Amino acid sequence: MSVRTRPEILFKIFTPVTSIKGVGPRISNFITKTAGPNIVDLLWHLPTGIIDRKYSPDLRDAKSGSVVTLTLRIDKHISPPIKNKRIPYRINCSNSSGNIVLVYFHSRDDFLQSILPIGEERIISGRLELFDGLLQITHPDVIAPISERDKVLRIHPTYPLTEGLSQNVIRKAINESLDRTPVLAEWHDPYLLKERGWPNWHEAVLRAHNPESKKELDPNSVVRQRLAYDELLASQLAIALIRGSERRRLGKKTLGNGSLRKTLTKILTYKLTSNQISAIDQIINDMSSETRMLRLLQGDVGSGKTIVSLFAMLNAVETGQQAVLMAPTEILARQHLATIAPLVKEMGVSAILLTGRDKGTTRKAILKGLSSGKVSIAIGTHALFQEDVIYKNLAITVVDEQQRFGVQQRLLLAEKGKAVDVLLMTATPIPRTLMLAYYGDLDESQLREKPAGRIPIDTRAIPLSRLKEVITAISRKIQDGAKIFWVCPLITESEILDIAAASERYKSLHKIFGDRVGLVHGQLKSEEKTKVMSLFSQVLEKGKQKDNKSIDILVATTVIEVGVDVPDATVMVIEHAERFGLAQLHQLRGRIGRNDKHSTCLLLYNDKLGKTAESRLSILRETNDGFRIAEEDLKLRGGGDVLGTQQSGLPMFRLASIEKHSDMISMARDDVKLIIERDKDLSTDRGLALRTLLHLFERDLAVKLLRAG
Ligand code: ADP
Ligand code: MG
Repeated sequence: MSVRTRPEILFKIFTPVTSIKGVGPRISNFITKTAGPNIVDLLWHLPTGIIDRKYSPDLRDAKSGSVVTLTLRIDKHISPPIKNKRIPYRINCSNSSGNIVLVYFHSRDDFLQSILPIGEERIISGRLELFDGLLQITHPDVIAPISERDKVLRIHPTYPLTEGLSQNVIRKAINESLDRTPVLAEWHDPYLLKERGWPNWHEAVLRAHNPESKKELDPNSVVRQRLAYDELLASQLAIALIRGSERRRLGKKTLGNGSLRKTLTKILTYKLTSNQISAIDQIINDMSSETRMLRLLQGDVGSGKTIVSLFAMLNAVETGQQAVLMAPTEILARQHLATIAPLVKEMGVSAILLTGRDKGTTRKAILKGLSSGKVSIAIGTHALFQEDVIYKNLAITVVDEQQRFGVQQRLLLAEKGKAVDVLLMTATPIPRTLMLAYYGDLDESQLREKPAGRIPIDTRAIPLSRLKEVITAISRKIQDGAKIFWVCPLITESEILDIAAASERYKSLHKIFGDRVGLVHGQLKSEEKTKVMSLFSQVLEKGKQKDNKSIDILVATTVIEVGVDVPDATVMVIEHAERFGLAQLHQLRGRIGRNDKHSTCLLLYNDKLGKTAESRLSILRETNDGFRIAEEDLKLRGGGDVLGTQQSGLPMFRLASIEKHSDMISMARDDVKLIIERDKDLSTDRGLALRTLLHLFERDLAVKLLRAG
């Protein structure tokens, strides 16, 4: 899709990095991991440091310890004795101002002889050392021909790397990318450029990669500010265009006769909270109006969002239309079905599950039910929105734990039917700026009170050194019939290592508790996951027999973080709690205390607790209010991490930072308002430039909608 509509001027940078000379499949893999697959991704991969190579002293008065760039003649190669590996390879060099030795450990002789041929001159740059009265450079960073003297003798940017890449390799690839960077027509108001002192885009990219000083690495240097604003403007513009096109499409009024909703109220064993009632009112109100609904339902874990969404879905079903509920994981989808199916069955409404696991004839049958309209409520994962899934008349899409899905993904949902209403649900309260950045202005309902009868969770922080006591306490709880979550944290960025930690804990608990312990983690096959989960929660698909060897302790990596509902679970142990963010801990804790039983959360911490970690844990002990915790979290660590963007699949900003550029977010929104007022089809010169901007930041979908108009 994107390739077809992308302006030609961008072709050169929307090319795989393998098109760069010297970048083969291996290096391209590393670059892809570090920056992304295309040339443009390298442009966005900004330096985080600089090395000054401008110091080119006479050897007589050179300061050791500093980085120097020297013109040297290679005089002599001295191999170490073969027997002694610890003695380095040495290369004597000189120029008119003195002598110096280049030192290499564990290097190949022939390689060194080829890059530093005797009798020739080279530009050499590296850190100068004084050793036994002799000047030396160990493993020089740069060896270049004399012709490149000026290229070396300046300030060099340094880039974030992943293993397998070196500064030299990535810098070379980036320099090549810069050479291919086109000059683009300006999309900003000239007045703004002047006021802010911003260079044009081409110059901004070049300067961003050639910083003259540390100060230029600041996110609010003129150059970086401009690039960040480009990205924010693209994102706000995309949101506005998509919204606009949603509004232009005829909204439809969906208002049923209330019969199913009345029945639901009757069969529920509890009374709705007043927050739930008003959220339902707001949603039904949106659905019954002409414009399309886009509403965010925020409510703490356990605040009862699912049932609110069921009222909305039944409203659609009352009018003979369909509803979809999408969850980020299969476990969660299954649980929603287990909650919803028995409730709606009594009303003669059919609800089905569709996940990536359904294949072949099963899948065909499900798809048929959806396209014929026989099925009214579809619950599942993103499998619900694959291309061949067709709905007869979809009226509402509910997206649970929406922060797990990317914006583009969510927009695709809306494509599945005419004027589909969208309800997003989240248990992670989203601060205002973040919301604006990701969604533009969005309607919002909040569930701030807990359903009646909930007993606050008893939260305690215990040092890991008291693990024995914890295990004794747990044995007692199990004898009383308790179900226990045991969470092992993110240790590194590597999922494999996490799993290793969880597996270790599983093994040690298994020694004590035998088969009462189960293990789930992200790399289990989904069948296994479901099996372990159902042994723990006894949430089983209908028709399957109950297993009597149930699991009492579930050891898990953070896969259980999202929405899993095991009402009987009353104990949550979180190992290395200090490594989690506050909001995340609160999410985890929300897995328990979902009934009228007394629940306990044990935060096991490393004995040496830092100050931040300490105040984090004490906030958790003090309060159970997710909104308050979110605010505190924001104070403690600033905006970006609150959503856990890394894991969430949100389109991360590459250049803009929610905290550092927060003032520019509303500026971009206002800018976009003006643009749309004056040039809603983006057909003026500036409009055309803005289209290019959208492509540049891969907001292609927005451009497509613009065409479909
Ligand atoms: P979440 O907001 O985390 O998605 P759920 O919808 O899973 O919360 O609800 C958590 C539990 O609370 C469920 O078992 C649900 O049946 C129950 N529940 C929801 N609303 C109420 C209420 N008003 N009173 C009592 N229990 C409720
Ligand atoms: Mg939920």
